[in-house]
Amino acid sequence: MKPDEIVARKLNVNGIVQGVGFRPHIYQLAHSHQVMGEIANTASGVSIHVEGSRENIDRFCKSLPSNLPPLAHITDMAEAPDTVKGLDDFSILPSTAGLMRSTLISPDVSVCADCLKELFDPVDRRFRYPFINCTNCGPRYTIIDDIPYDRCHTSMKHFAMCNPCQSEYDDPKNRRFHAQPNACPECGPRATLHGPDGGLISCENPVEQAARYLKQGKILAIKGLGGFHLSVDACNTPAVERLRRRKHREEKPLAVMSPSLKIIREYAQVTPEEKVLLTSFRRPIVLLRKKEPGLLSEAVSPRNAFIGAMLPYTPLHYLLLDQGFTALVMTSGNMSEEPIAIDNDDAFARLSGMADYFLIHDRQIYLRSDDSLVRHVASADRMIRRSRGTVPVPVFLRRPLQPVLACGAELKNTVCLTSGNRAFLSQHIGDLENSATYDFFCMTIEHMKRILDITPRLLACDLHPDYLSTRYALEQQQTGMDLIQVQHHHAHIVSCMAENRIEGKLIGLAFDGTGYGADGAIWGGEFLIADEIGFDRAGHLSYIPLPGGAAAIREPWRMAASYLYTVFGEKMMDLDLPLLREIDTKKLTFVQGMMVKGVNCPRTSSMGRMFDAVAALIGIRYTVAYEGQAALELEMLADDGESGSYPFEWLSEDGYQILPHPIIQGVVQDMEKRVSPAVISARFHRTVIGMAAALCRVIRRDSGLSRVALSGGVFQNAMLLKGLIRELSADRFEVFSHSLVPSNDGGISLGQAVCAAGVNEV
Ligand code: ZN
Ligand code: ZN
Ligand code: FE
Repeated sequence: MKPDEIVARKLNVNGIVQGVGFRPHIYQLAHSHQVMGEIANTASGVSIHVEGSRENIDRFCKSLPSNLPPLAHITDMAEAPDTVKGLDDFSILPSTAGLMRSTLISPDVSVCADCLKELFDPVDRRFRYPFINCTNCGPRYTIIDDIPYDRCHTSMKHFAMCNPCQSEYDDPKNRRFHAQPNACPECGPRATLHGPDGGLISCENPVEQAARYLKQGKILAIKGLGGFHLSVDACNTPAVERLRRRKHREEKPLAVMSPSLKIIREYAQVTPEEKVLLTSFRRPIVLLRKKEPGLLSEAVSPRNAFIGAMLPYTPLHYLLLDQGFTALVMTSGNMSEEPIAIDNDDAFARLSGMADYFLIHDRQIYLRSDDSLVRHVASADRMIRRSRGTVPVPVFLRRPLQPVLACGAELKNTVCLTSGNRAFLSQHIGDLENSATYDFFCMTIEHMKRILDITPRLLACDLHPDYLSTRYALEQQQTGMDLIQVQHHHAHIVSCMAENRIEGKLIGLAFDGTGYGADGAIWGGEFLIADEIGFDRAGHLSYIPLPGGAAAIREPWRMAASYLYTVFGEKMMDLDLPLLREIDTKKLTFVQGMMVKGVNCPRTSSMGRMFDAVAALIGIRYTVAYEGQAALELEMLADDGESGSYPFEWLSEDGYQILPHPIIQGVVQDMEKRVSPAVISARFHRTVIGMAAALCRVIRRDSGLSRVALSGGVFQNAMLLKGLIRELSADRFEVFSHSLVPSNDGGISLGQAVCAAGVNEV
């Protein structure tokens, strides 16, 4: 074969290859390697035909996967010989509509450096235009309504491009070639400012006027990418407190946005890993350690060593923060636990009691998406809330599954749809406890089915009969789909296995607050031997009463009373503890009476409740304003230098049952000896780590298993996660934990999907 003989090859590329500047990029790459050909979007990805010398084609194919635009992600690329067409150029063909529509949709992307440069360039035609974007940046998931990803299927369809915008859009060499949200001040969306009743406030520059209001301490509702934020100046304590009162959010930390990394560093410590997170195009909220003394109002995250901060991600944010703020509070625009508002009219209706002014725009948000929240712990990024900037990037599974719809848990709900080896988790939906959130849940399922083109054939949900997600699944079952109910903690463990792409039996530690057990009790301190299909309960915390059910979750003092009663019986009242002095004796006696009679006292093995109990026993928190608050404060208090711990023991009876006695006696004795709460907290954490590791060793001896998966919301506790990974790894266990999906109930839907598919195959 002569070296200059012309050959042709066809490449089928799948992954995130549409709406990310892939075709213009390949156009340039083809030119640089002197190959001719064609490229087209197809319903399943991108198809490329190239022809030229064998040598050039080889170089082109070899360099393609390692030479991608920033947002592209290739999952597979098939190469096959093709017929030479005798082309003398490389061209971009119009999109074809096909039957398979399995291409991946990009998440929403923060404004890129090139666009930012234009934004602040006085001679650019988009100077200070709040909706500047290009193929490398801008809204995606939140404005798409159907596929393929073309302007007519996005909320940009209402804006006809002007001539300059259209020629950018049509030019393969332009950064805005086929940038679906392409817009300019002439033809694109506009920002407007409104009063609390929705009335338009006429002003020359709505963004600058909004900034002036913020400086006066006003509360602004600001329409963003995935929904509305409520915003105030984070340095203005009365304003922050007013926002808290109006939003009925008394203590839960509020996220902030600052104009630059340099400014974030003035009030928080930023490690190199955290810098990568903050500046990534996903722009999540990153949990950072505060610097003291604080530059921001203490009311932003009261009694908290951490602050959730992010950098601006839309051009509008940049313009706003450019007006000289250290940080703006950017909390989701909703009342307490409802979903965030996305629609202008809905925002006026729901936020008018909270916001003094509204900074809105006329580009519709089709699907809400809250800010993502992430923390870097024990050498990995840990997703706490996986939403804007990440969704709908799938979790790539070890093997393909039949299409499943998993409906998730109740709190921090997400849903999951699978297609082949891809598991698409939805954005954060929230706590399925009101009709607004339930509507959002139903809408998200329909929306995802459409834009991902997935028709599920199998349903998965929790075992809990009363979860709205379970009821939804039961209703759907009537359409003829099989339904598989997956135990909550089993789903946690399989979720961890799925994102780590592992299979087979292992030891699963599922530590969380609440999950419906196979025996009807409330589980949450579980040692499972599990695989994708089933589990054995190898061990758990001993059952103790949960006096008053849900009330015991809001009032950790009840859990302390429960542990005290379990360990000391009626003598508990004679102990020398601040709790017994500070909580009304009538209340204590009442709760004790409930336990004696066993009235309204479901049984629980929850690890989360044990942390709550200890927080109350040492007097730091008797009631909580938000879920996990007591445990969080207990963790932040712990003295890093402490090396002591408490004894522990378990019964070997129907699995291993960890007894509360030695641990609780240890805590009480330390309290009576006036040992500091910081030391007791550290000792308690070290005890849980030591106990969990010791029980893993026993289970390894019994079962021969040496892999451990850690899951459940309690593992958001960094001290516990770090300590247990360290201790188990040192003892030659192979340890798996969460990074891509939350260890909390936000990750449950992934585990449900994989379990259900596994069970259904057997
Ligand atoms: Zn851009
Ligand atoms: Zn234009
Ligand atoms: Fe859970």
